[in-house]
Amino acid sequence: MADQPSEFRIEMPPATPVVPVQLWLDDKFRFRCHKGIACFNKCCENIDILLTPWDIVRMARHFGITAREAIDRYTTDAQIDAHGMPALKLARKEGSTACTHLTPEGCGIYADRPAACRYYALGSVAMRKKESSEVEDSYFVVKEAHCLGHDEPHEQTIREYRREQGIEPYDEANRAWRDIVLKKRSSGPTVGKPSQRSFELFYLASYDLDGFRSFALSEKFASVFEIAPELCSQIESDDAACLAFAIRFLRQALFGEMTIPVRGGAAERRLPAYRERLLRDAQEKAAQLADQQDALYDSLKEQGQ
Ligand code: SF4
Ligand code: SF4
Repeated sequence: MADQPSEFRIEMPPATPVVPVQLWLDDKFRFRCHKGIACFNKCCENIDILLTPWDIVRMARHFGITAREAIDRYTTDAQIDAHGMPALKLARKEGSTACTHLTPEGCGIYADRPAACRYYALGSVAMRKKESSEVEDSYFVVKEAHCLGHDEPHEQTIREYRREQGIEPYDEANRAWRDIVLKKRSSGPTVGKPSQRSFELFYLASYDLDGFRSFALSEKFASVFEIAPELCSQIESDDAACLAFAIRFLRQALFGEMTIPVRGGAAERRLPAYRERLLRDAQEKAAQLADQQDALYDSLKEQGQ
């Protein structure tokens, strides 16, 4: 299997002019954003922001709604890669390129704004080196003409900026997910196009955390996987633990890594049910086809009369 270096970018608004200098945590850059600045809100008026799993969790918490409701209200569907791996983007206001959360006073969800909004005006690239399991993060400055923050007389290190913007908890929660995306991309064409089922599982585990929680705590799940009772309570009560478990599950579902112990004989027990479902699906499809054929012949007969 080809093991290509891979990268994952925190998405920025379209056609962002990147300063081509790679920066590391202790490098300094000049930038300051504040409410009194003349360009206030300009950066949120034309967005194209890819969301991470923790962004959805925080957005849902902010409004006291489920992940599913947050997805339906505040995101649009997108794709992470050419294979059609599902992704979510931050929704825009109807008929506009502005962010759905933008208000005249600024960001309407500032305390829970997504990772990409916190990073701005920085970009981040995660590179997995060839034949290495370690992922290296580096940064670059994004300088858009409308953003006057670059002219402010304020310098800080990347590390200080990350801390000030509250980026660390987001990166912490998203890191394992990002590694999966990188791994999926770097697997190369030999793996082929992932199945629809793997897309659905990826979507559920990555974004619909409440849906994944119900799935992971269901009797069906427990009949296949062994999960300790303490872990079940963590999954139930702690979003970060639930996301970490969702990523563990994805490693197993997507790459066949044995991250969650499977109960002895579970595969064999489930095989007859799986076969039965396949047979039922095939029978339903055949019945649908027969109905379509009947309708076709009926319409031909009517035309011939
Ligand atoms: S979530 Fe807030 S900071 Fe991010 S683009 Fe929307 S309004 Fe701007
Ligand atoms: S300084 Fe840049 S980041 Fe801050 S409000 Fe202006 S355009 Fe947005």
